[in-house]
Amino acid sequence: MIDTLPLTGFRLRLRSGEPLAPRTTWRIGGPARFFAEVDDVAALAALLGWARAERLPAIPLGKGSNVLVPDEGLDAVVFALSGELAEVSIETPLVRAGGGASLMSLAVTARNAGLSGTERLSGIPSSVGGAVRINAGAYGIEIFDLLEEVTVVSRVGEIRVVPAGTIPHGYRWSALCEGDDVVAAARLRLRPAGREEIDASLAEVREKRKKALPVKPNAGSVFKNPPGDHAGRLLEACGLKGLRVGGAEVSERHANVIVNSGGATAADVRQLMARMRDAVRDRFGVDLLPEVEDLGRFVTNRGDHRSVESPR
Ligand SMILES: Cc1cc2nc3c(=O)[nH]c(=O)nc-3n(C[C@H](O)[C@H](O)[C@H](O)COP(=O)(O)OP(=O)(O)OC[C@H]3O[C@@H](n4cnc5c(N)ncnc54)[C@H](O)[C@@H]3O)c2cc1C
Repeated sequence: MIDTLPLTGFRLRLRSGEPLAPRTTWRIGGPARFFAEVDDVAALAALLGWARAERLPAIPLGKGSNVLVPDEGLDAVVFALSGELAEVSIETPLVRAGGGASLMSLAVTARNAGLSGTERLSGIPSSVGGAVRINAGAYGIEIFDLLEEVTVVSRVGEIRVVPAGTIPHGYRWSALCEGDDVVAAARLRLRPAGREEIDASLAEVREKRKKALPVKPNAGSVFKNPPGDHAGRLLEACGLKGLRVGGAEVSERHANVIVNSGGATAADVRQLMARMRDAVRDRFGVDLLPEVEDLGRFVTNRGDHRSVESPR
């Protein structure tokens, strides 16, 4: 099957039946029908074009820190950005980062160039692409605060450089969440600063995060904070810490985090999330919205492409 793909000559490696659990921080989920590592924009456009022709959903996977992969796997082309698409380069005071670069490598490269701004984001176990899509943030800063422009590739392989200011965004959301565009790269504007100052703020972030988060496999906050409140506070007030479904457990350290205590399935996580949401609705009348993305639902939505003549 793979030999017949019209993708020879592009910088990508394609495999079938790739296990996805090791590529997620939850360590949950079945295999991808196809998995590719894509090294440059031309290969990305070719892969997206091929997936579209095959009527297969094409799903970018960053660091897998905000996704729930279904137990049955994904009948899709799942791909990660690597090579050129994971590089970070300095254009003082700007930094250009491929969508597959980690926020930590972004922060370290910026630090080595004497550029400050990304330190508070450095502990988020995210790719740049995943972070831009959801407008990831921590300690009072969001990635859109630093963004100048975003390079996106559409499902039809069109490459566009979009000024960040024209992309609607808010708390843990950007308009990119509503479409299929892949974030291939981003340019951020940083501030020249001394290395000691930057190192101090990197160390501070490291310490804070060490204390706050559980060590067992998790995907960070499972629900978004409702306006004016904290999902963790509401969940804790419902006495949910330690609640278990199968191998999925509400963390004893943070009530808005589900840990994989061993052998957790996506079905366990879904059921536990439903119980958490119900408890908060019953007690406080607040509807919690998920922050983690269930890729099962994602595929069902994208699977609609199969019946559409010309998906975008
Ligand atoms: C321990 C821990 C701590 C966390 N702390 C924080 C925090 O402080 N603040 C915060 O905001 N989040 C936090 N998170 C959540 C998570 O790290 C962020 O949501 C992160 O931005 C997800 O990025 P990712 O690369 O892992 O994306 P993934 O989980 O791989 O993917 C998430 C979604 O983005 C899509 N996607 C991935 N790459 C691209 C791309 N290049 N272009 C378009 N779409 C793409 C995927 O298809 C999927 O729909 C934490 C998670 C963990 C496990």
